Amino acid sequence: MSPFEYIEPATLEEALDALARYGDEAKLIAGGTGLVNLMKQRLVQPAYLIGLRRLGRTEGLAEIGQIDQTGPTGSAQAVRLGALCTHRALEASPLVRTAVPVLAETFERVASIRIRSVATLGGALAHADPNQDPPPSLMVLDARVGLRSSHGQREVGIEEFFVDYYETVLEPDEMVTAVIVPRPPANSGASFLKFLPQTQDDYATVAVAARLTLDADRIVQARVALGAAGATPLRANAVEAALQGQPPTPTVIRDAAALVAEAVDPSDDFRGSADYKRDMAVVFVQRALDHALGRARAGREQE
Ligand SMILES: Cc1cc2nc3c(=O)[nH]c(=O)nc-3n(C[C@H](O)[C@H](O)[C@H](O)COP(=O)(O)OP(=O)(O)OC[C@H]3O[C@@H](n4cnc5c(N)ncnc54)[C@H](O)[C@@H]3O)c2cc1C
Repeated sequence: MSPFEYIEPATLEEALDALARYGDEAKLIAGGTGLVNLMKQRLVQPAYLIGLRRLGRTEGLAEIGQIDQTGPTGSAQAVRLGALCTHRALEASPLVRTAVPVLAETFERVASIRIRSVATLGGALAHADPNQDPPPSLMVLDARVGLRSSHGQREVGIEEFFVDYYETVLEPDEMVTAVIVPRPPANSGASFLKFLPQTQDDYATVAVAARLTLDADRIVQARVALGAAGATPLRANAVEAALQGQPPTPTVIRDAAALVAEAVDPSDDFRGSADYKRDMAVVFVQRALDHALGRARAGREQE
């Protein structure tokens, strides 16, 4: 590992000032589970490491809470997740488990409990390894990412956040501060499935998240996203379009799921060949849609 200077700011403002001062030469470090590996391999060699450990109690950076969001169609409730929340805190949060259960289920599937106890939400997104689990679930929930720098703040849709392999829209002086997850509309069901043919704490061979929202007998909104299926986590737009407005029959779901084969671009590796992963993407999209549909129907019956 190359030598570096370690800085540990006490406030968000100090952290953002340090980022602005050192720019490309600096890296934030949260849980360190992604960054330290890259530093050991000398793939990343920052001159300055800005530790976020002391910021946990400031500005809601490690808090999970409910907020009201006002949009063009009125006010709606959303869950705000602070960027320094650990995966473990997110999987265990009573609010996440009730408002967006698929998210708790997703964080529960990441790596091992040791990794989840230190890995943070902001670190997971900024790391931008396309094999990670949370991004597809955040995508089907239409999540937004809150970013701050010393000269302002902005929000980007989770889909726009990922640009390429290990690359995001983050500017060198920006930090992820929160993720906003709208509560899904009524009559919705969501599912996250991770295909793990080897060990339970591995990265996915393919990961699929799906959300369906039903009207009386139609699908009024469909979301499907995948991980480990290309250079970034990706939305399966063709699958979604084939489901939109259709009755949720087994044939409609099977035919729509088949379209994902054209949307994915997996690579050959020790988790399987690209062809095998493409076939598994079709299988797991169909299963995730079936699972999401069952949940949407069960929710409707309870109302
Ligand atoms: C053994 C092992 C197994 C794993 N298995 C899985 C798995 O099955 N599924 C899965 O999804 N992931 C898996 N991971 C990846 C893991 O989820 C990520 O390493 C972790 O989420 C990164 O979070 P962190 O807080 O440790 O980030 P760090 O390692 O601290 O940082 C990662 C990157 O994010 C930047 N960063 C950190 N915080 C912020 C912020 N708030 N704003 C802007 N940039 C920031 C850093 O500068 C760095 O570039 C695994 C990792 C390991 C080591």
